Amino acid sequence: MRVYMDNGATTRVTEPVMAAMQPYFCEIFGNPSSVHGYGREARKAVEAARAQVAKAINAEPREIYFTGCGTEADNWAIRGAAYANVKKGKHIITTNFEHHAVLHTCKQLEKEGFEVTYLPVDGDGLISPEQLEAAIRPDTTLVTIMYANNEIGTIEPISELAAVAKRHGVLFHTDAVQAIGHVEIDVKAQQIDMLSMSGHKFHGPKGIGALYVRHGVRLQRLMQGGAQERGQRPGTENLAGIVGIGKAIELATADIPGRAAKMAAIRDHMIERITKEIPYVQLNGHATKRMCGNVNLSFYFIESESVLLHLDMRGIAASSGSACTSGSLDPSHVLLAIGVSHEHANGSPRLSLCEENTMEEADYVVDSLVEIVARLRDMSPLYSDFLKGVETVGTDD
Ligand code: PLP
Repeated sequence: MRVYMDNGATTRVTEPVMAAMQPYFCEIFGNPSSVHGYGREARKAVEAARAQVAKAINAEPREIYFTGCGTEADNWAIRGAAYANVKKGKHIITTNFEHHAVLHTCKQLEKEGFEVTYLPVDGDGLISPEQLEAAIRPDTTLVTIMYANNEIGTIEPISELAAVAKRHGVLFHTDAVQAIGHVEIDVKAQQIDMLSMSGHKFHGPKGIGALYVRHGVRLQRLMQGGAQERGQRPGTENLAGIVGIGKAIELATADIPGRAAKMAAIRDHMIERITKEIPYVQLNGHATKRMCGNVNLSFYFIESESVLLHLDMRGIAASSGSACTSGSLDPSHVLLAIGVSHEHANGSPRLSLCEENTMEEADYVVDSLVEIVARLRDMSPLYSDFLKGVETVGTDD
């Protein structure tokens, strides 16, 4: 059996998305900027996709800009807003458990003379509106807080946080790369000024993202070149990718409650079985304010890399931390931010579902985990030391 439970890293392109994209390689291949028929056909497809993306988050098509990925959208929103507002101030607020696309961008801005406040999340990974309010200063120009965390799945109170920013006249950006298709988003009702997304996280292709920028918000563009994307993001459009993200977001947002309920049932089944059948395990992230497809657990006394290797040998794909940091031996900054110890942070695999996963797959994964964790603990000096400690404590009584 092969099971893919690493949908937080990327998702497969589904057949309807592939079918929508297919004509845009060999048949309808014009440059959308060309004025001839080939170009006009391509332009029509780009604008149709822009409308699909806009509709999915209740934005206007003119508020959607296509980018090369989620990372680019984050970079542009943060740096573009920071540079455009230097006359007002140079203070930015974010959190200490953002994706590196946000954190490293903020670090770079610090080197350029901006000041950044990194709000600490609580043990569940939440930021409170009061905490944000207390951090806002007269020179604050931007707040950037992720919609849902990619590692532990905690969903932030985005409407409340954006309302605080709005009250203080500060721009509010959210990295919604993991949230699209999993939670209902309405940028107008939620007063979001900028929002980043990435096609490959919701069954679209890789190499295409989008940034929503509320009409009226001024951003400095990061690249110089042609007049594409209304002069704000130059470079010939990724035509097939744009068609793909349009179709993918339309499908991903067609029935969010239905998709989320299906995934949450599998997620909860897995969490319940794992925490019942495997001792010394801890669920990371909020118990209920959590992405419908996220299971992140710390298995004490063992390394998550070994767990992942054994899962892989059984045909199961999972990850530790985010795909961008897996391979690095540093413990996840997200787990450290919620107070998980260095030791336990190293034993925390993430299983991330999509709506295609089944209960049968979930049971196969849990059965495998039960065996793998027991076998690794049998070989773990940490575990045998722990058991000796337990025995010693027992004899003292
Ligand atoms: N933001 C979050 C929360 C993510 O999970 C990711 C990807 O893992 C990104 C940004 C970067 O997106 P992309 O891979 O499209 O650059």
